[in-house]
This record gives sequence, C-alpha cells and structure tokens, in this order.
Amino acid sequence: MMKIVFSALFVLVATLGIVNLIADDKEKIIEVMKEKPVQPAGKVEMTDEEWKEKLTPEQYRILREEGTERANGKVYDEFKKQGAGTYYCAGCDAELFTSDEKFDSRCGWPSFYDPSKAKNVKYNTDFHLGYARTEVRCAVCDGHLGHVFEGEGFDTPTDKRYCINGTVLKFVPAGGDSGGAEKGEKVETSN
Ligand SMILES: [Zn+2]
Repeated sequence: MMKIVFSALFVLVATLGIVNLIADDKEKIIEVMKEKPVQPAGKVEMTDEEWKEKLTPEQYRILREEGTERANGKVYDEFKKQGAGTYYCAGCDAELFTSDEKFDSRCGWPSFYDPSKAKNVKYNTDFHLGYARTEVRCAVCDGHLGHVFEGEGFDTPTDKRYCINGTVLKFVPAGGDSGGAEKGEKVETSN
C-alpha cells in the first residue's frame, strides 16, 4: 500500500517538474505587453512586502536591492531580438526608454544612449565596486535600473551608455500601443 502511495507521489512530483520546465521555457524574462500601460500619476511608494508581492524575486533583487542580472544571459538575447518599441519600468510602469535610443554596445546588458522620458530617470553616485559609478534609478518608484557611463567612444548622439538590467523592463512592441499612447500622455503630471 505504502509503495503505491509513494509511486503515485513520485509520478505527481515528476509531472509537476516537467510542467514547470515547459512553463519556464516559454516564459519571457522581459515581460511583453500589447498596450502601453497607464502612466503613474505620481510617485509610486510601496513597502518591501508589497514589492515582494508585485515583483518576481529577480526583479525585487535588482530594483529594490541594487542587484545586477547575469551578463550575456537570456535577458540580453531577448533584448537583442526585440524590434521597435517602448520600454517601461517593471516596478511602476513609467516609460523609460524606446528602441530609438537602443544601441548594441556588446557589453552583455541592454544599452541605450539616452532615456526617452528624462524626467522618469534619476541619478545617484555609488561606490559598490570601489570607484564612483553613476547609478540610474526610476524616478517614479525609486527602483534601481543600472548604471550610465560616459565618453567611451560609442558612435551615438550622446556617447553615453545606459547599461540597464532588462529584467526590470517591460516591453511594448511598436504598433501594439496605438490608441493607448495618447491616453497615457495625458495622464502625465508635473513631477
Ligand atoms: Zn519605476
């Protein structure tokens, strides 16, 4: 009898494992949405518990704990394959970048030469690696996005490299956001 129970349990666990694997394989790391999300009307503030509820563990680690995703990982592969579109903060939906500012820096992380909505981005100096780096944060939810480096010799209009964790971005392909775009623009506030 016990043997049957154990066998049944084993089959169940094995099945769940396979289902999980399939789901993992299909799931995009950079969330792709059809429509532009409604833009936050003001600052977005939540407790750590609320952030943990809203974000994936990896998003939480990066946005709220200044983590960094693996270089040249699946996120970067997905990012490189994406066409025209707009990138939003996974924490608060604020618009941050578009494919217009995207360029291939070959650094292993999503790169942009400028934000598309400068007011949604803020800066901070950190010394985590022993020298000063300019940290890039979402100005709306105060989430850590990555760093920005200047004057590296890239042939872009700014020669800045916004080195951003793709894990904390949401992508809306161009064409999918018509209709939502106008509505979203009007929601913008003065801050
Ligand atoms: Zn944000």
